[in-house]
Amino acid sequence: MKHVAKKRFGQNFLTDQAIINSLVEAINPLQNQTIVEIGPGLGALTKPLLKKINHLHVIEIDRDIVSWMQNEYAKTAVTIHNVDALKFEFAQLVNNKSSENLRVVGNLPYNISTPILFHLLDNVAHITDMHFMLQKEVVERMVALPSTPAYGRLSVMLQYHLAMEYLITVPPEAFEPAPKVESAFVRCIPHAIKPEIANDFNLFAKVVLAAFGQRRKTIRNTLKDFLNDSDFAHLKISSQLRAENLSVKDYVLITNYISH
Ligand code: SAM
Repeated sequence: MKHVAKKRFGQNFLTDQAIINSLVEAINPLQNQTIVEIGPGLGALTKPLLKKINHLHVIEIDRDIVSWMQNEYAKTAVTIHNVDALKFEFAQLVNNKSSENLRVVGNLPYNISTPILFHLLDNVAHITDMHFMLQKEVVERMVALPSTPAYGRLSVMLQYHLAMEYLITVPPEAFEPAPKVESAFVRCIPHAIKPEIANDFNLFAKVVLAAFGQRRKTIRNTLKDFLNDSDFAHLKISSQLRAENLSVKDYVLITNYISH
């Protein structure tokens, strides 16, 4: 189909066949798994995935692409959800009778990558794993360890729920049109058993937000609404540290200390 890429939908279509093959290999789709692709576009991933499995759910916002897909794929092979992925209820695809959760994949529109990741976290109980192409810089933030420059709120919030693996760096030339930045492919697997559990998850999110709100300041300053000097002494966490020096475990310790 002749399609002019729409910037507002973050349309950068994958064209490098060797890279596409390595992504599909990393995903390793198996028959009878419930697989959902976010942003199928012109089928760079959809088509090779359909060579390995009989059915795929796709979530696509662009109506022009949706009309094209309706003629391109058999109804039995592709279930099209013409909605904004940010509003999509992933739980509706989980069959209550089976314990099969969803596998979510996609070359994500970069302009909404962080909100999509947070939306998926809300649905994490229904997800087996996720494989995404994102801006390389975002993937580096997702997997970053404490006290490194890329470590931030996104790292803490995602690592609380997920084990993540940086898989492949993908150059701009692999796309049409080429984006301005490098991309990377990442695998995310929800923890079967969370290493740390916050008793009050909303409070955990608030503490992390407050700490990273002013990441140059010490936590004595940024967390003053939650902790005083004697609290820091009880916790055995130095109040002179900055947000980026604390691990997920430290944020959970703080949350559970405040909420007990
Ligand atoms: N999968 C294709 C590929 O790899 O060539 C297209 C990837 S392109 C980076 C992103 C796709 O997501 C486009 O098809 C775009 O229309 C779609 N998209 C953008 N925003 C979306 C949203 N909020 N919900 C669902 N799809 C969206």
